[in-house]
Amino acid sequence: MSETIVDWQSHCDDDGILWLILDKHNTDTNVLSVSVLEQLDSLLDEINNNPPRAIIFRSGKAKGFIAGADVNEFLEVTSTQEALIMIKRGQTLFSRIESLPCPTVALIEGFCMGGGTELALACDYRVALDDAGTRIGLPEVKLGIHPAYGGVVRATSMMNPLKSLEIMLSGRALTASAARAIGLVDSAQPKRQIERAARNIALTQPGRQSMPFIGKVLSLPGIRNLLAGYMKKQVAKKVPRQHYPAPYAILDVWANFYGDNKRMMEEEANSVARLIQGSKVRSLIRVFFLQTRLKGLGDKKSFNPSHVHIIGAGTMGGDIAAWCALRGFNVTLQDREAKYLSNAFKRAHQLFGKRLKTNQERNAALDRLIPDIDGDGVARADVVIEAIFEDIDAKQAIYKDIEPRMKPGAVLATNTSSIPLETLATVLKEPDRLVGIHFFNPVAMMPLVEIVQTASSSEETVQHAIAFTQHIGKLPLPVKSSPGFLVNRILMPYLVEAFTLYDEGVAPEAIDKAATDFGMPMGPVELADTVGLDICQSVAQNLSAAYGIEVPEGLNRFVNSKQLGKKSGRGFYNYDKGKPVRDKDADLGDQKMIQNRLVFRFLNEAAACLNEGIVTDKDLLDAGIIFGTGFAPFRGGPMHHSLQEGVESLVAAMSDYEAKFGQRFHPAEGWSLVTE
Ligand code: NAD
Repeated sequence: MSETIVDWQSHCDDDGILWLILDKHNTDTNVLSVSVLEQLDSLLDEINNNPPRAIIFRSGKAKGFIAGADVNEFLEVTSTQEALIMIKRGQTLFSRIESLPCPTVALIEGFCMGGGTELALACDYRVALDDAGTRIGLPEVKLGIHPAYGGVVRATSMMNPLKSLEIMLSGRALTASAARAIGLVDSAQPKRQIERAARNIALTQPGRQSMPFIGKVLSLPGIRNLLAGYMKKQVAKKVPRQHYPAPYAILDVWANFYGDNKRMMEEEANSVARLIQGSKVRSLIRVFFLQTRLKGLGDKKSFNPSHVHIIGAGTMGGDIAAWCALRGFNVTLQDREAKYLSNAFKRAHQLFGKRLKTNQERNAALDRLIPDIDGDGVARADVVIEAIFEDIDAKQAIYKDIEPRMKPGAVLATNTSSIPLETLATVLKEPDRLVGIHFFNPVAMMPLVEIVQTASSSEETVQHAIAFTQHIGKLPLPVKSSPGFLVNRILMPYLVEAFTLYDEGVAPEAIDKAATDFGMPMGPVELADTVGLDICQSVAQNLSAAYGIEVPEGLNRFVNSKQLGKKSGRGFYNYDKGKPVRDKDADLGDQKMIQNRLVFRFLNEAAACLNEGIVTDKDLLDAGIIFGTGFAPFRGGPMHHSLQEGVESLVAAMSDYEAKFGQRFHPAEGWSLVTE
């Protein structure tokens, strides 16, 4: 047999092994679209009529096995019934693979996600490439669903449920060796041996992966229910069921139906058919596409920096330096005196310890991070990032000193949060070469970086800054230079409203609950305490001057009495071992009103930013806010959420609040743009 059915190629080798190669046309990523599955179904008809000695599934792409299902097709589903038909078709196909009369092997190189992993699980054996690029996972929860092509049934019947459930609940992807350790793959092999290993397994058919004894015990009915209950409590610490039902649904399918594969398969399908219909899934898919858009901005290949020089080794500069070294860059780190570097190196040590597996990798990262008090690295650097404290004269003195020493074409960037780039650039001979690369704190946790450009920024510099951000694995968001840029600008009125509520006597617990119930990852009061109330005060003062925001007295009182939040052990909350001590009996007040006040300020500022062109379109605004603030991802961003709620009624409600609570709720100009 040797033929091509558009996306699948097949050929039989001398040993009688049939190689089924997925190479989806017109794309560099394999996804399991309906058409790809239908073609496979036809191939299986032929195979059943004339079975080969064995089958090996592999990808024809340069990198990547199968990235998962085609999520675009989820959006076309209009009813639970339609979803069920689509899912059952996939289930039936994968069950056909499982019951083929010959041995089947999945040869996995590169990304193998979702439906790709489910296809691999339906094979008798899995062999994965043991290199840095291979990642295997079942990340469906990130889209608000869970595996539906038999993945829950097969994963939980093959591996210790603690392991299989953990990867499905977290959506975490594993390296080949980690997948081998939990039994997700049978063998992890280097490039030079992988084909031989797959062939060998196909021909010799060694014993198949089976559930370890401890897994069998944990799957016994009574223990299973206890374990599922415990795991639900763990999940609840991270995400509430009302907003993220998918991980809970996985545990329900497993706890209630494990042991009866046929029934469990049906319930797996029913469960996803129910989930896929909700607006949450659509919003999460939107977030996935927004992330893809940010990842695709600029041209990574157009600029290949290798050396970054950072000036200022404080909270931000130190962590930016560590992050760049972690990502493989040579980094020189400059501060006024050696003593200011030690904390940065201590934190870098911790970061490498957490993120890198071997001592060799950690030592290599430390070797890449070089203390440089004299600033010798400036002359060699492809990117120079200034992250000294927020002082115009000090920053300008640095630019005057380094500009003549920088390589031609190197990027000069500032991490300033509040000083206009136009002001900073006045001392430069080439003012158009200054760009903002604005990181967020904590650097290692925050995926977004704002790329700040002025009217006179050179396009080449901006493009290089975007490419650099891609190289270090962060998401770039191009924004116009204006006070607070996008993220801080939108956060501030929301935080200020929280401070106002507090001044009115509303308990911090009530304020934070209203926000987290809306879907914010952390309430505004706890967020302010975490950022530091002195930093909040300084950003609020800057923005209040620019936008006429009134900063409530309460915040100043805290800062004056040195209660700076988490870092000083006291702020709006008292802190015990870094955790806020909350009053369980706090009066929660009128939750709807509190939530509306917080959310309206947030949304209204977002509309104002759209109007002022801080970002170029609504999607980028939503992307920036989701990845910069954690804004309830299942709501798809402030713009998407406003459209879902109905802009007209939202604006009317804001006008009501303006009459009740003051001019700050006056609907911003720009709401008409939201509906365009
Ligand atoms: P920081 O006070 O923690 O650190 C500033 C560092 O710069 C200090 O180590 C100081 O010794 C050093 N420094 C000062 N003058 C110097 C000079 N002439 N040469 C070399 N080093 C010098 O400040 P930070 O919080 O890291 O903020 C740095 C910049 O990042 C500021 O522009 C700030 O607006 C911005 N920023 C801060 C945050 C945040 O959350 N802290 C977030 C985003 C952006």
